[in-house]
Amino acid sequence: MPLVSMRQLLDEAAKGGYGVGAFNVNNMEQIQAIMEAAKETQSPVIIQASRGARQYAQDRYLYHLMLAAAELYPEIPIAMHQDHGNSFETCKSAIELGFTSVMMDGSLKADGKTPSSFEENVEVTKRVVDFAHERGVTVEGEIGVLGGVEDGHGAGGDGLDHITDPDQAVEFAERTGVDALAIAIGTSHGAYKFTKKPDGSVLKMDVLIAIHKRLPNTHLVMHGSSSVPKDLQDIINKYGGNLKETWGVPVEEIQIGIKNGVRKINVDTDNRLAITGAIRKVLWETPEKFDPRDYNKPAREAMQKVVALRMTQFGQAGHSGDYSPISIEEIAKGYADGSLSTAPLVAAK
Ligand SMILES: [Zn+2]
Repeated sequence: MPLVSMRQLLDEAAKGGYGVGAFNVNNMEQIQAIMEAAKETQSPVIIQASRGARQYAQDRYLYHLMLAAAELYPEIPIAMHQDHGNSFETCKSAIELGFTSVMMDGSLKADGKTPSSFEENVEVTKRVVDFAHERGVTVEGEIGVLGGVEDGHGAGGDGLDHITDPDQAVEFAERTGVDALAIAIGTSHGAYKFTKKPDGSVLKMDVLIAIHKRLPNTHLVMHGSSSVPKDLQDIINKYGGNLKETWGVPVEEIQIGIKNGVRKINVDTDNRLAITGAIRKVLWETPEKFDPRDYNKPAREAMQKVVALRMTQFGQAGHSGDYSPISIEEIAKGYADGSLSTAPLVAAK
């Protein structure tokens, strides 16, 4: 199966009332883990690469790993997504490389650190939407600013500093025509999201629900949504690691989000924890080993387990065979003739 448009994946998820996990990749083992989990659970999947990943793996390696995944798993719909594009140029280069979806994170300036103005965000996002839709490529925008830093991208600070304003979300969706909208509801990138199990004072599910009420057909995206499970933290610390106690976004909260318009859920930290824990365990228990396969294989299996669990919890499991992919060219025609709408349905307050 060719790589598919993320818009199609999300439209199908909306019809089915489920969410789709978007998992970050940097190397071959991570792609293999995701694809094996998708096969095991029969899930459509979003594979995403940050700017940091594109630098780390080199664009051509990454692209061909994605093509290998599409070739080896013809029954699985895969969207290939640029995570947190910082500028028009980054998104353009991803599209030219063959990504079927891009995030234009215009909530920050091109330095990936400084919060931008609303007008700047609308302007750069709209420019990416025009370029991408002509080529059948999906665009995710962001309104509000997430906390923390991931791969050098992020404003840092607390997730509560720039919570999304529902009225601005409506105006942003109307003026840009994005296919999916990332919102800030108190989550942060990285492992250190919350200092205790989050409640409504730090995780603003009420804001998410308010945005969904105003934009009932818009695909919402939750970033920084690893759950940071204690058992994965414990494995790392048991085998010589030194993680401070921390809390992520509980899966129950994500499931509430999915009932309220969330269609894409970004998960990276949980997979990083699973990989590192597995590697530490092997090296700690059998210090005589030195073949990288001896620890990369358990690391890959540990990540597969986490991804398969999330796919089941998000509801995408069992849906890989629901539909046949529409080509990117057909999708481009749909945007051009208006059959693929980019004008959001807006409900009154
Ligand atoms: Zn993110």
